[in-house]
Parts: sequence; structure tokens; C-alpha cells
Amino acid sequence: MKTLKVSVVTPDGPVYESDVEMVVARAQSGELGVLPGHIPMVAPLQIGGVRMKKDGKTEQVAVNGGFLEVRPDKVTILAQTAEAAEQIDLTRAEEAKKRAEQRLQSKQDDVDYRRAELALQRAINRINVAKRG
Ligand code: ATP
Repeated sequence: MKTLKVSVVTPDGPVYESDVEMVVARAQSGELGVLPGHIPMVAPLQIGGVRMKKDGKTEQVAVNGGFLEVRPDKVTILAQTAEAAEQIDLTRAEEAKKRAEQRLQSKQDDVDYRRAELALQRAINRINVAKRG
């Protein structure tokens, strides 16, 4: 089976690297599946889990936005933060989720509201990826 190299990179360094059969990410425009030989492109991503398929198994990486770049047989994901499933501290993500929910319930300005909303999305994404692996 043909494979493509996938790298997930953050400002702190590489987070994930593998040869996989398919990458499925949540682009701003919707779900995006990339197979070997995909046309070159760049797509902005949503906060979400990126699924890597290989040998009938799926691995997930929690990605906080960023961009996906496709080149022949290589996918690079650049994101502000990203964690492979086994790197996620579930307790920390659950606490972050609670904090964000409390902020969203309290009275605050638009800027803080948007910030809390994004923190909530990051936390929910990490919880989902940590639980599903
Ligand atoms: P928190 O409030 O728990 O810090 P956050 O969403 O504000 O969460 P970020 O600013 O997105 O955190 O990330 C800061 C750093 O901490 C990044 O390196 C990120 O990969 C890491 N990180 C954040 N949450 C977790 C987690 N639950 N498990 C493992 N690493 C995490």
C-alpha cells in the first residue's frame, strides 16, 4: 500500500512523524482526506483531531488550528500547539474545560468570551483525542 509522510510541527518542535496511508483533518472548509498523490495545497485547519490511518489502525493527534500543507507524498501540519493522544494529560484538559465553562457563564466582555470559547474547544478536543486514542 502506498504511504505518505506526515509531520506535525509546533513552535516548540516536532510532535508527530510517521508514514501513513491516509490523513484526515478538519479544515476550515470541512473534513479533508489526503491520500498519497494528492494535489499540492494549503488549507487552514479548525481545532480538531487529525486522524492518521495505517495498517487498519487509526492514530489521532489533537491540533490547535494551524495549517495543513500537502506536497507530493508529504503532509506537513503547522500548529500553535499539538499533542499525540498518549501525550495528553486528561485531568489537565478536564480542568481547563471546567475553567472555560465557568468563564463562559460569568459576565464578561466579547474578547474574554471568545478566548474562553477557544479554550473550551481546545480542552474538548484534547479530551476526545485522549479518550479515543
Ligand atoms: P491549559 O489551560 O491547561 O494550559 P491551554 O489550552 O490554555 O490549556 P495551550 O496554550 O493550548 O493550553 O498549550 C500550552 C502548552 O501546553 C502546549 O505545549 C500544549 O501542547 C500543552 N498542553 C495544553 N494542555 C495539555 C494537556 N491537557 N495535555 C498535554 N499537554 C497540554
